Amino acid sequence: MSPIDRRPTDAAVLLSARGIRKSFGANEVLRGVDFSVRRGEVVTLIGPSGSGKTTVLRALNGLETPDGGELEFDGGPTIDFSRPVSKGDRIAMRDRSAMVFQHHNLFPHMTVLENVVEGPIRVQRVPKAEAIAAAEALLDRVGLAEKRDQYPFQLSGGQQQRVGIVRALALKPDLLLFDEPTSALDPELVGEVLHVIKELADEGWTMVVVTHELAFARQAADEVLFMDGGVIVERGAPRDIFTNPREERTRRFLDRIL
Ligand code: ADP
Repeated sequence: MSPIDRRPTDAAVLLSARGIRKSFGANEVLRGVDFSVRRGEVVTLIGPSGSGKTTVLRALNGLETPDGGELEFDGGPTIDFSRPVSKGDRIAMRDRSAMVFQHHNLFPHMTVLENVVEGPIRVQRVPKAEAIAAAEALLDRVGLAEKRDQYPFQLSGGQQQRVGIVRALALKPDLLLFDEPTSALDPELVGEVLHVIKELADEGWTMVVVTHELAFARQAADEVLFMDGGVIVERGAPRDIFTNPREERTRRFLDRIL
């Protein structure tokens, strides 16, 4: 199926972000970010370094608290950042999404399996045997079943990042957030990680992916958001953004990196 065929235009909106603002001291990093993600949709966020892409992801996951704006996950109440965020809101945000980081962030003193089951057992209170069985199935899916008892340092960067993805999947989130998942990898290891992400996209996982891999964005994304200076400057289907951008800023960015 091409990305265009699988674009779930009539699927329910899973997440709406409206007017998200965030400053670090005097540095206004997000200046009113609006977008929505439908169930099953793959949204990629591209743009120059420092434009605020990572901060958007971190705000969705509750790792940063915006100064203003609203988030709404389907079926849940609106989280209004003009007011203090309640503990319940924080838990709702944390539970809805799971993040795959640029540097896998695996615990170095835990085995692969222990890393994967930690969240389900400790945070979600899943019974241990159930969490282990689910983790083993996921590791098997990404070709890492035989690595379950190894430690992160014994794996290649690509394998570590695949474990990072499995750890996020094990939380069974509605939304997967990828923060430049391949940018810390040696070039020859990028493909295996993008392959796993593409498979998850084809299976219908909903995801927001911050990436510099424009070929990946072109193939896998339903919608591309181009960010610059803390706002989304342009959005659209990959073929429109990449072949016929409307905005000068998008054109300049693409000319620089394509
Ligand atoms: P991008 O992902 O597009 O490269 P980021 O969201 O990482 O952009 O960063 C946007 C801006 O916010 C940068 O100027 C960065 O230095 C600043 N920034 C991000 N996180 C913090 C933080 N925790 N404290 C201070 N400044 C930050």
